[in-house]
Amino acid sequence: MTMHMRIDKRNGGRCSRRILVAGGAGFIGSHLCDSLLQRGDTVICADNLLTGRLYNIRPLLNHPAFSFIEHDVRDPLHVEGSLDRIFNLACPASPPHYQKDPIGTMKTCVVGTMNLLELARQKSARFLQASTSEVYGDPEIHPQPESYAGNVNPIGPRACYDEGKRAAETLIFDYHRVHGVEVKVARIFNTYGPRMLENDGRVVSNFVVQALQGAPITVYGRGDQTRSFCFVDDLVRGLEMLMESPAALTGPFNLGNPQEMTIEEIAREVLACTQSASPLRFEPLPKDDPRRRKPVIDAATELLGWRPSITLRKGLEATIAYFAMRLATTGSPSEAPRRRLAKPGRPRLTLAGSQ
Ligand code: NAD
Ligand code: UDP
Repeated sequence: MTMHMRIDKRNGGRCSRRILVAGGAGFIGSHLCDSLLQRGDTVICADNLLTGRLYNIRPLLNHPAFSFIEHDVRDPLHVEGSLDRIFNLACPASPPHYQKDPIGTMKTCVVGTMNLLELARQKSARFLQASTSEVYGDPEIHPQPESYAGNVNPIGPRACYDEGKRAAETLIFDYHRVHGVEVKVARIFNTYGPRMLENDGRVVSNFVVQALQGAPITVYGRGDQTRSFCFVDDLVRGLEMLMESPAALTGPFNLGNPQEMTIEEIAREVLACTQSASPLRFEPLPKDDPRRRKPVIDAATELLGWRPSITLRKGLEATIAYFAMRLATTGSPSEAPRRRLAKPGRPRLTLAGSQ
């Protein structure tokens, strides 16, 4: 497979790659763009700003090796010149956001992934998919190894995302087998950190914003369901290590922090870290909410040399500092994610420095 690597004088002669990050204005994607630029790569970020925002990438817009294209991946994407790597993170990840337009979410997962796989095929670029622990559904096997095929309700409210991501994995491995595209699949478990949306709806951002505002902490169900939380810096390092691993390592690889805790425990940890007196308010459990979730990460540890290193306390402190700053500057947690779609087939290129 052809590699288009250039020697980059900015980076002590190290090989520099030209990389597309779809979904690069979102929470994880913007951290990934930061990290790739710091490493000396050239980054093209494509995003329709559904749940991402320019605020996340604003500091990068002046970077000479960064460009932004406002584009919806459900439309084919044309990129001038060569591409070495494609990271596909384009998809809303928070249940309230992906359930708001379920048909749109399914199309993003399936049509969007296929469009980016076609681009990878045309450019002989390596493709990495941000898949999810949701492919395991409400798991009957605990903790979850990659070999577990999952327990997803195909007709429930979460299915647009869960089944969309499962279909995307199918497409990826078929493009690999049929067209020889180099592929990598990361099954990401719950990840948190700075740049989640204030009104994101996910548990860590909800609890931190509520605690900082002295509002009730909304625990769904009895709060005894579990999740395992990974700080975003650890996750981004894992995505990069997977992308640069030998071609034979396609995955899927679980990437997540195996430290499992109940939702009530995370609520109490957030209260302790914020020194907040907010009460817990128990609300109904959403339909099909998985009872428990914990990754087996032996494959990532043994084959990629990756394991998370940031403790929950340290990660929460960084997250709380971020939300405290956002609340102080915006004054409200309710800044709605913008929905500004480019006209189909006409991506808008924002050159560095023009915003
Ligand atoms: P996010 O919502 O902050 O980021 C998703 C980004 O994709 C946003 O910038 C959004 O505007 C963009 N996007 C959505 N639909 C698009 C479309 N049709 N065309 C172009 N751009 C589009 O979420 P995140 O937490 O940063 O998640 C990033 C990726 O990682 C997602 O694919 C998600 O499924 C996956 N993931 C995240 C987690 C997590 O805990 N954060 C867990 C598992 C998987
Ligand atoms: N949750 C909660 N209160 C909230 C938001 C979420 O108790 O304000 C629960 C939710 O029911 C789930 C867990 O926290 O059991 C994680 O939810 P999230 O939406 O962050 O991610 P996912 O369900 O996709 O793992």
